[in-house]
Amino acid sequence: MQPRFGLTADLIFSREIPDELRPELDRAVEEANTVIFRKGVPKDAPTDEIGLITGYAIAGPVLTVTFESGGYTRAHDALFRFRKQIAGLFGRHRIGLREIVVVHFRVELRGEVPEGLLLASLPFVRSAEVEPDRIVLELAVTAADLENRIPDRLIRLVEEKTEAAVYGGKGEHWELLYESPKRGFRFREDPTQEMIRRGWIKHALSRGQWIHGPQSTRLFRAFEALVLEEIVGPLGFAEMIFPKLVPWEVWVKSGHAKGVYPEIYYVSVPKTRDPAYWEDVADHFKVTGEVPVDMIREKIDGPIGGLCYAQCPSFWPFLGGATLTNDSLPARVFDRSGTSHRYESGGIHGIERVDEFHRIELLWLGTPEQTVETADLLHERYRRLFDEVLELEWRSARVTPWFMAQEGMLGGEGASERIGTTDYEAYLPYSDSWLEFQNVSVNGDKYPRGFNVKVQSGGDLWSGCSGIGLERWTAAFLAQKGFDLDDWPAGIRRRFGDAHEIFRFV
Ligand code: ATP
Ligand code: ZN
Ligand code: MG
Repeated sequence: MQPRFGLTADLIFSREIPDELRPELDRAVEEANTVIFRKGVPKDAPTDEIGLITGYAIAGPVLTVTFESGGYTRAHDALFRFRKQIAGLFGRHRIGLREIVVVHFRVELRGEVPEGLLLASLPFVRSAEVEPDRIVLELAVTAADLENRIPDRLIRLVEEKTEAAVYGGKGEHWELLYESPKRGFRFREDPTQEMIRRGWIKHALSRGQWIHGPQSTRLFRAFEALVLEEIVGPLGFAEMIFPKLVPWEVWVKSGHAKGVYPEIYYVSVPKTRDPAYWEDVADHFKVTGEVPVDMIREKIDGPIGGLCYAQCPSFWPFLGGATLTNDSLPARVFDRSGTSHRYESGGIHGIERVDEFHRIELLWLGTPEQTVETADLLHERYRRLFDEVLELEWRSARVTPWFMAQEGMLGGEGASERIGTTDYEAYLPYSDSWLEFQNVSVNGDKYPRGFNVKVQSGGDLWSGCSGIGLERWTAAFLAQKGFDLDDWPAGIRRRFGDAHEIFRFV
């Protein structure tokens, strides 16, 4: 969308601005409009797009200035360039700039506005007018907000909302990369139901949470062993332990803070660990047998963050602010140290879409070429594993959010073309549908940039990650292979071994 800005600000000085300064002020404004505001602006930029002072007036110690602009030297940038200029000029007459008060700030975005775009309660927005061909925002901002580039971020936000309103309903752009040979299926039931029937799993007491009995656990561990032997070992991924409680700062840097809120399991801490402070809560429980959640809510701080959502963000503070030697790269690590938690709400299904799940996360760093190369090596190994060892019917596809695909936002040359996610999906005979059971992502410089990690050579540092969902592998495998061990591929039968029942129920 084409932005236009209108800004009026009061520049408040330490004393009255004398009339004799008028001519100098006129010259300064002239210089700002013809020279200073044009610095760094491309030669072919239309004149009416470039920041301009369109009016100014003096009243006692206050200089009121009005700026207008399009996309070049935006009105707020023009204000700060002018501040520097005028502070120097008035300073020579011992008049100091005390304060800048933003009287009025208006942003107009011209372009096609999709129907149903909601701009209610945007931060810093006093009023928003949404018309078919333009959006007009009146902002309530201070000079400090302008210096913090609030208007630019707000415009980016409105543009994102516009894109989401256009493409939002369309989900993802999906492009098939590989399709395995077809397989025959003898088992056509929902594996979760069969696992329950056989006593392999039981519902736990929290939503979307299961207790995995010995057999189910052995299958998880068999898959884990396969991943270690076929992928992690040969490609040299080293095991690490990533934290599973994620403070806001990590999600701010990883970018998850932009939108993860509806799916977080939030974490809070006690306001104090003084037992006396908590005694009434304990007493209430002892007398009523009920945990007094409302009382607890008053006694906790935070949330300070949430439980692990994606595994890799918590790795990055390990490298935060550091510069890696060239020979550290490519670096490959993985984590399997704990659960991930997502509030899936009504989407919960079986063991494959749950609120608490188990995942092995592979993470790698390198130059763009090394990062892409690791992704390719993984694709190759996964393919062999699913085709030759697990004998699954599966496919892989490049997935891109629609608006990104549409706007060519992922476009780029060479390695950049590879930024994005490949989903691995398995066929589910019982529902004649496909289940995403893992993915491989090339994330470009997103994480190194977010966590300020550099490499000695000064070159680009990229990363990638791959999340192997054990519940999803199990659901896919059992849905296709069933529960008769004789039908299972040898590689998994051998690792599963003799997982006899431990608990028998009367
Ligand atoms: P979906 O579209 O199925 O919700 P997603 O795109 O949210 O998946 P990612 O964020 O890409 O999933 O997570 C990576 C991997 O983590 C998935 O491929 C899957 O194996 C696993 N995973 C994600 N959410 C769940 C869940 N609710 N239950 C079990 N496994 C999950
Ligand atoms: Zn990841
Ligand atoms: Mg999801």
